[in-house]
Amino acid sequence: MLHRIIPIFIPHLGCPHRCVFCQQYRITGSEKPPSPLAVAETIEKGLQQSGASASEPVEVAFYGGSFTSLPVQVMEGYLKAVQPYLATGKVASIRVSTRPDAISVEVLRLLIEHGVTTVELGVQSLDPEVLACAERGYTGRQVWEAAGLIRKHGLALGIQLMIGLPKDTREKDLATTRDVIKMKPLMVRIYPTLVLKGTRLHQMWEQGLYSPLSMEEAVDITADMFIMLEAEGIKVIRMGLQPTSDLNSPDTLLAGPFHPSFGELVASEVFFRQVLTAWRLWSEKPETEDFGVFVNEKDLSKMVGQNRSNRERLKRGLGVNRLRIAGIKSEERDWVGLGRAEADKPLFVLSRQDFYRAWSGQNHI
Ligand code: SF4
Repeated sequence: MLHRIIPIFIPHLGCPHRCVFCQQYRITGSEKPPSPLAVAETIEKGLQQSGASASEPVEVAFYGGSFTSLPVQVMEGYLKAVQPYLATGKVASIRVSTRPDAISVEVLRLLIEHGVTTVELGVQSLDPEVLACAERGYTGRQVWEAAGLIRKHGLALGIQLMIGLPKDTREKDLATTRDVIKMKPLMVRIYPTLVLKGTRLHQMWEQGLYSPLSMEEAVDITADMFIMLEAEGIKVIRMGLQPTSDLNSPDTLLAGPFHPSFGELVASEVFFRQVLTAWRLWSEKPETEDFGVFVNEKDLSKMVGQNRSNRERLKRGLGVNRLRIAGIKSEERDWVGLGRAEADKPLFVLSRQDFYRAWSGQNHI
């Protein structure tokens, strides 16, 4: 179910050390963690902004630190600040993000007692070399154990992954994704690694010991992971960091594939691949030089791509002279159709689920 989230940022709170890539003060735009009183104020403000008549349930989410590494009293202090809103039904649930090595039966019981329903684990990778180089401080085995415990206790499991970390490769990202699918999370976030000022990665980059992914590589790998996860019914709820004003400043972001609409770039890449796949599967192409690509009108901007980039790529990819991309009214989303350019509806349609099956089979991912 969709929630309206009221985020509470607790930058670096509970973190046993600083991972090489991380700079939560800049990512979250928050300079210091709030007091429990400030949490209540943020919730009040969030409820007012979202309006009393909004229909989706409200969720309070503690982001930006290692929530379950906090001393029990501090954790309870934050959770208790939300209880009055849970009691009146103004807030439906709580979500926390944390490290895989900070999950235990005792901690999960405490979370459940206080109305937490979702735990997001910052996994980043399951490759031992990548985890070690990022100085994450836990093993893949600990991730499996934490994910299993969270699910066993009936909590929704979210997993955060990163691509482009030191010693990472596309193959390692896809292997991590295959294992994450087996952990059965409800949702996944994917973040390309960025070089942020003041991090250990900043030093490595300056010393020539680290090169970030290009934007093309980041979009390509994320699209592969998106297809693999969504094909298994796992929602990819975020791709790329939220563009805070700090992150938009060249004083914070030094290098790496950052785009304020990174998720849109990936969505366009997925539509591009879906058209190529539909073209391959369409066995009865008419005798014409002018083809049309059809999508739900609400998907048109994703299909066309930023700066209309998909049109030229598709003309080259399909080897056609003229290509019309048209949006039409439809109940269903995420399908693509092919037909004559001048027609008002397609002759061949490929649904998203059929595309996932065909793409995974052909590309062995
Ligand atoms: S990545 Fe997570 S655990 Fe590491 S420093 Fe950042 S918030 Fe803390």
